[in-house]
Amino acid sequence: MLIDTHCHLDDPTLLASLPEILAAARGAGVVKYIVPGVAPEGWDGIARLAEEWDGVCPAFGLHPMFAGLYDEILLTRLRSFAGRAVAIGEIGLDYLAEVPRERQQAAFRGQLRLAVEAGLPVMIHCRRAFQDLLAILREEHVQRVGGVMHAFSGSPEVARECIGLGLYISVAGTVTYRNAVRPLEVVREIPLEHLLLETDAPDMTPEPHRGRGNEPAFLVEIARKVAETKGVTVEEVTAATTRNAVRLFRLS
Ligand SMILES: [Zn+2]
Repeated sequence: MLIDTHCHLDDPTLLASLPEILAAARGAGVVKYIVPGVAPEGWDGIARLAEEWDGVCPAFGLHPMFAGLYDEILLTRLRSFAGRAVAIGEIGLDYLAEVPRERQQAAFRGQLRLAVEAGLPVMIHCRRAFQDLLAILREEHVQRVGGVMHAFSGSPEVARECIGLGLYISVAGTVTYRNAVRPLEVVREIPLEHLLLETDAPDMTPEPHRGRGNEPAFLVEIARKVAETKGVTVEEVTAATTRNAVRLFRLS
């Protein structure tokens, strides 16, 4: 049994055919789905999905792309969702986004503090900002709650630094792409006990499904590629990554 540790089931393209998508996922052995929030207008919908659908586990957060919305009122609202969350996320830094870096950093810090206060792990999005991100994670004591580097795009060295802070490294569909180099290096060098799997659906569709929307059922392609790269069986990859996800998000 696999766990998709990052999929946006509340995205309109997935929501429209959710019964079929979840049936296909279950058929493929993908039985739990962590659904992260990216902006406050989506939080209620994610909470509702988790109540309605078996295996859907909610997380709430403000994505760095929307950090312009960050203020004390938003933080208070986010705190009110913490009681039903398996994590705070997705949060982080994205220096390819147009939001000023200072605003992103303030939103990231505030949400990290909330997570530590609530005792919840964090789901982290990071693009082109690893040095600043690592410094903030250290200063805000992320190791007290742990978390995951979602769709990790850094080097094996950065991955090891993240692991030192109590974070898991999450592998997404990029490992299946023909031009993949760095993602495969990370998979090769980082032991299974530190890895999680995710689709990031509806984005990042893995091979051989590229060209259409991504969905949790396709997680098996990522598990297969990780197994092939590490020279182990798919069953070993499944067992280890599911164990890691259950531990991090305290799933039953
Ligand atoms: Zn995402």
